[in-house]
Amino acid sequence: MNNLKTLAITAAISLLFASCEKNESTNLTDDSAAKISLSGVQTHEDCGFIDNNWPSSAVLSTTNIVNSSETNFIFGQNADIASLFQINTVPLGFAIGSGTFNAISYGAGYIIFGETLYNYALNNGGRIAVAYVQAHEVAHQIQFRNGIPSRNENTARAGELEADAFGGFYIGHANGYAADWTAASNAYNFAAGLGDNNVNSPNHHGTAAQRRSAFRLGWLLRNNQYPGARSFDSAFFRYYDQYVLAGALRGEFIRPEGISQETHEYIMSKMEELHKISTGEISEEEFVNLQ
Ligand SMILES: [Zn+2]
Repeated sequence: MNNLKTLAITAAISLLFASCEKNESTNLTDDSAAKISLSGVQTHEDCGFIDNNWPSSAVLSTTNIVNSSETNFIFGQNADIASLFQINTVPLGFAIGSGTFNAISYGAGYIIFGETLYNYALNNGGRIAVAYVQAHEVAHQIQFRNGIPSRNENTARAGELEADAFGGFYIGHANGYAADWTAASNAYNFAAGLGDNNVNSPNHHGTAAQRRSAFRLGWLLRNNQYPGARSFDSAFFRYYDQYVLAGALRGEFIRPEGISQETHEYIMSKMEELHKISTGEISEEEFVNLQ
């Protein structure tokens, strides 16, 4: 009897895991495989398996991280980010458990924020660092939905730098986090600590200096109305490619669509500085002290 009972329980458990595994194999671009619904109807909380991007011991929660006050903050930010970028709120879940040092924006249309990364961000950069990571991940959703970045490189860099710029824009914008530069730069310097120098890796996100300059460019654009995803994309790459990376004006420079004359002149006055950030001539310490 005992044996039978054990057998029955084992069978039930393996069935549960089998069905979970069938639902996964999600990655950043595979829309069809992801079956996790984050609308609160169906999750994997009951069987404790999210997908292969997370430790098998991690469980998905769509309602709680750390405590109710921080949970409210993070969902509030999630809504504010969507509002600024004129999209529906992106479904957000939390991977709860040890070893969850990641935040992933899925091609299927949702974001999962790992508890370990969340705690690290909160303890080292504060709430603004959490908000910045969230805005960066929502930017990837905007990219998926709009077929941007318009720039193709051999690595992930173009999309990552653009997501940093979206993040900087959100952090600085009056209808976003509305942070002054001191707070904003500290948020970014926290995130830059997660950057990489593997310039030939497919997953290369840009050097820390390039990421700082992309974030700063987004923050400098903060007084402009959000021009929409494609205009933001073309403005970002026009400024970034033609000037920030090049270090000098390449070709005729036309004010990007959706960017006001006032903002454009402001950005142009900061180009030398942006270039020096991107090369590392303006150090991390000096970066914090910019105006
Ligand atoms: Zn990213």
